[in-house]
Amino acid sequence: MQKYIDSHCHLPKNMSFEQAFEKANSVGIVGCVLNSVSESDWPRIIDISKHNKNVACCIGIHPWCIDSATVNWMHNMDAILQDNPHIMIGEVGLDKTHDNFVNQERIFTRSVELAIRYNRVLNLHCVHAWDSVLKILKMYKNNLPKIVVHAFDGTQNALDFDENLYFSYSPNIAKVNYKKIKLSLCKVPKNKILLESDSDDFLPVLTAANAVLDARPDVSADDIFNNTMGVFFNG
Ligand SMILES: [Zn+2]
Repeated sequence: MQKYIDSHCHLPKNMSFEQAFEKANSVGIVGCVLNSVSESDWPRIIDISKHNKNVACCIGIHPWCIDSATVNWMHNMDAILQDNPHIMIGEVGLDKTHDNFVNQERIFTRSVELAIRYNRVLNLHCVHAWDSVLKILKMYKNNLPKIVVHAFDGTQNALDFDENLYFSYSPNIAKVNYKKIKLSLCKVPKNKILLESDSDDFLPVLTAANAVLDARPDVSADDIFNNTMGVFFNG
C-alpha cells in the first residue's frame, strides 16, 4: 500500500485520536503532524506524540484563537520547546479575515522568533495576509527555520520568497474553482511539495494526494512521503 503522511491536521472532535489514526493507517496514512490552536490543547497533543513516533506535534496559538492566549503563553511555549527538542511550532500565522490583526502580528512575530531560537519547523497559516507575513519573515530572512505553508493558496510571492518554505496542499486543490492553487502546483519544486487533510479527519489527505499526483506526473507519492519525512521526522 502507498504510504502518506498528513502534514497538517488537528485533534479529532468526534472520536479519540487513536481511533482516527487507526482508520487513517488502514488506508496508508501512516503518520501525521498534529497542530494545536491554543494553549489548552498543547498537553494532549504533546502526550499523543510522546507515545507515537509517527505523530509529530506542533504547539502554538492559532490566529483565530488569539484571545485565548494567557499572559504567560510565550514563557510557557519557550519552556516546553527548551525541554522537548522534537516539538515544533504551529499552527501560527496571520489571517486578514479575522479580528485582532495587530495582536495576531505580535503573537506571530514572537512565534517566529521562538522557531528561530530553537530551530524548529513552523506550520504557517496565512489567509489574505501574504504581504504582512512576508514582511515579518523578511526581518529574519537569513535565519529562518523550515516553514511549512499549510493549505497553500498558490501565491507567487510566497513561492519566490525563500528556499526554506515548503508548500502543503490541502483537498482544496481538488475543487474546480481553485485555479490559483492548481497553477502554483506547476511551479513548485518537487522537493517542496507536501500533503495535508487540514482536518480532524485524516482521510481527505488522499483526495489531496490524487489531485496533486494527477497534476504533476513527474512527482511520485514516494517523493512527497520523503519530503515530509525530511521536514518533520528526520530533521
Ligand atoms: Zn489547521
